[in-house]
Amino acid sequence: MGAAWTAARRVRISTRHGAGTSVAAEKQASGTRQRTADAIERACRAKGLRITGPRRVIARVIGEAKDHPDVVELHRRAEKIDRGISLSTVYRTLKLLETEGIIERLEFRGERSRYERASREHHDHLINLDTGDVIEFRSEEIEALQTEVARRLGFRLVSHRLELYAVPLDRRRR
Ligand SMILES: [Zn+2]
Repeated sequence: MGAAWTAARRVRISTRHGAGTSVAAEKQASGTRQRTADAIERACRAKGLRITGPRRVIARVIGEAKDHPDVVELHRRAEKIDRGISLSTVYRTLKLLETEGIIERLEFRGERSRYERASREHHDHLINLDTGDVIEFRSEEIEALQTEVARRLGFRLVSHRLELYAVPLDRRRR
């Protein structure tokens, strides 16, 4: 049973109680983030999109993100690289990248849309309501079950979104 279930990646959204990443993990991750930024630029070129200054900056900001930032936060980070980038430019660029399937928009309950690079590998999200952490996971059983439910209803499943809203089992120890 356990083998069918993998927590793909643990991603901190808010840092209400300080940053928890170790230095070694941080170093390893920075290489990955550079590759992500490059991959976004490559995806833009593959779709025939020009790599303008703002697009490059936004690709870099999304590539560097360890969390799932919303548009305001992405704008704040983009401004640190290029002060001239307006919120509406960030909005338009995100919309474009989303339309082209290069990034994904996540809408968690009662929050502004958050963004992440479109993953080659599908995953779902568990949102820790205590901390705002988002845990990415993939369950083959759930994937298969959803396909089966759609089939029984007379449909071929094309895509889905699954968000689990949860609190830790051992809250008192936190
Ligand atoms: Zn899924």
